[in-house]
Amino acid sequence: MIKLHDKFFKPFISAKQIDEAMARLAREIANDVGDEIPVFIGILNGSFMVVSDFVKKYPNPCEVTFIKLASYEGVKSTEDIQRLIGLTQDLTGRTVIILEDIIDTGNTLAEVHRIFKNENVKSLKIATLFYKPEAYKKDFKLHYVGIEIPNKFIVGYGLDYDGLGRNLPEVYQIKQTQHMTNLVLFGPPGAGKGTQA
Ligand code: 5GP
Ligand code: MG
Ligand code: MG
Repeated sequence: MIKLHDKFFKPFISAKQIDEAMARLAREIANDVGDEIPVFIGILNGSFMVVSDFVKKYPNPCEVTFIKLASYEGVKSTEDIQRLIGLTQDLTGRTVIILEDIIDTGNTLAEVHRIFKNENVKSLKIATLFYKPEAYKKDFKLHYVGIEIPNKFIVGYGLDYDGLGRNLPEVYQIKQTQHMTNLVLFGPPGAGKGTQA
């Protein structure tokens, strides 16, 4: 178990599992892309490790660039996405593949689609290492998914909790405190019967 700031995290996904998922994504994407030279676009900050490891496994010539968006505050996603660094090159006619660390609510992905709406790319596909299906509330297709995970906050392999944890080579899941467990089991004060989700 590890402690970052005020919260505890337990081991969840090993470096080996991540490596296998990344190798599978690279194979699948290389198969689909064929002879095109794709542009891989990572969404900073979270995706820096995903991109670095992914492109080392990608067997063919490719371009790599980044855009920088921010949505998360602490352990919660917000709808207010900030564009900190946008696109800096012309992508007309290009095969573009977004590389994400994790897709949660999909708010960040919605912003990615807004950014690409007026770019005349040949194709835009989305690849993500982690995906939380229970949290996802958009309709955008996710073309390549590494590992589906439950709707709990994780850190490591690029993902942070208020700046910490990004350097961990494996992934940790937040540990519920006794207090939080009680809330889930018994509901908030005043909640009636049958309110459990
Ligand atoms: P979304 O906009 O889909 O809700 O969230 C996307 C971004 O929020 C991710 O790229 C990531 O930076 C951050 N995020 C989502 N879920 C988690 C999580 O469980 N842990 C951490 N550390 N960041 C997350
Ligand atoms: Mg991200
Ligand atoms: Mg973050």
